[in-house]
Amino acid sequence: MKSIPFSLESIQAIIKKYPTPFHIYDAAGIEQSAQTMYSAFSWADGFRNFFAVKALPNPRILELLKAQGMGVDCSSLAELVLAKRAGFAGEDIMFTSNDTAAEEFEMAAELGAIINLDDISHIEFLEETLGELPELLCFRFNPGPERTGNVIIGNPAEAKYGLTRDQIFRAYKTCLQKGVTRFGIHTMVASNELDPSYFVETARMMFELAHEIREELGIELEFINLGGGFGIPYLPDQDPLDIEHVASGIKTLFEDMLADFSVKPKLFFECGRYVTGPHGYLVSTVLHKKNTYREYVGLDASMANLMRPGMYSAYHHITVLGKESAHADHTYDVTGSLCENNDKFAIARVLPKIDIGDIVVIHDTGAHGHSMGFNYNGKLRSAELLLKKDGQVQLIRRAETLDDHFATLDLH
Ligand SMILES: *Cc1c(COP(=O)(O)O)cnc(C)c1O
Repeated sequence: MKSIPFSLESIQAIIKKYPTPFHIYDAAGIEQSAQTMYSAFSWADGFRNFFAVKALPNPRILELLKAQGMGVDCSSLAELVLAKRAGFAGEDIMFTSNDTAAEEFEMAAELGAIINLDDISHIEFLEETLGELPELLCFRFNPGPERTGNVIIGNPAEAKYGLTRDQIFRAYKTCLQKGVTRFGIHTMVASNELDPSYFVETARMMFELAHEIREELGIELEFINLGGGFGIPYLPDQDPLDIEHVASGIKTLFEDMLADFSVKPKLFFECGRYVTGPHGYLVSTVLHKKNTYREYVGLDASMANLMRPGMYSAYHHITVLGKESAHADHTYDVTGSLCENNDKFAIARVLPKIDIGDIVVIHDTGAHGHSMGFNYNGKLRSAELLLKKDGQVQLIRRAETLDDHFATLDLH
């Protein structure tokens, strides 16, 4: 069974102040995940996770992660601005974008962020944009047919990201000639992966590449960023990623394969989901029940609050608060109100008997949840709350109002 860090009574008290739907994040859980990750990799000098801002772009969360030693991974102008406002600066920020606009590179450079280029043609684009190249550059490697990807990120050979093997070598060579002196490398080949050996194999691939780059170009990479993608158990019977296995597998390879580097490259990740995903909950109230060809439960939340089930057919566990130990003997489709038939949080889910007014908690919404939300059908973006370690609840994003929603229109 999946646990929830609050009771029906505590949620009812919160709802009196902040009406549903809202996402609530558990600060203690987020800190715990951050610490688990850092302790698993404590053997790696200069280890760092650059939290992928897109997973949970809220300044209070970013501040909390900064206190745990994390940097941030940004991919857009807004994310860069948010990182800056949350107190990140310089090489605390990794800028991993694609199809990037000039103003985004300008902002990244202004902040002194580590710029990670997605294509060989961006060297010239960056040079033209900034007038000169920064002293430190990183490239995103796409291994193409060398690796198979997974569902969310796709097959590397069909993925739009990164440079081919051949381009990687040409890119570093060009940068050397243009006076760049510091280099890193990056890849991201999996998303929501629970198999530890996948990450160990990615490390092997990157350590080999680091060797070849040194051999061919004389560059000793300063860091190797293995991307994000640590998975979380969305299903109640799934085991969490064995991060100790990931870390010890990578440690063995690191010690074997990089032994002869005079300065060891730093090991970076940019995980979002692993850090915050399990510690967010979408809290919603049952508005309607409907029996037609199937039994439906209609919530006051919709796909606009959480797109993953509709977009990826992703499983998100559902708990009916106060009915945790009730017999699950009903089969429901749990829906939102969008005029869009895939606006379903669950299809044919076996749950206890649900009544109108019940409070439904949708689990694992702490990453790629609120942030993937949208305004289709004029749905307003929900509030975000933070359950702090002292038990206090803080409003960390107010709910959108109709005025917010219409702010860009000229209404009479
Ligand atoms: C989305 C993304 C991440 C974070 O992915 P998670 O699955 O949340 O760990 C990291 N790096 C890049 C480049 C991304 O696009």
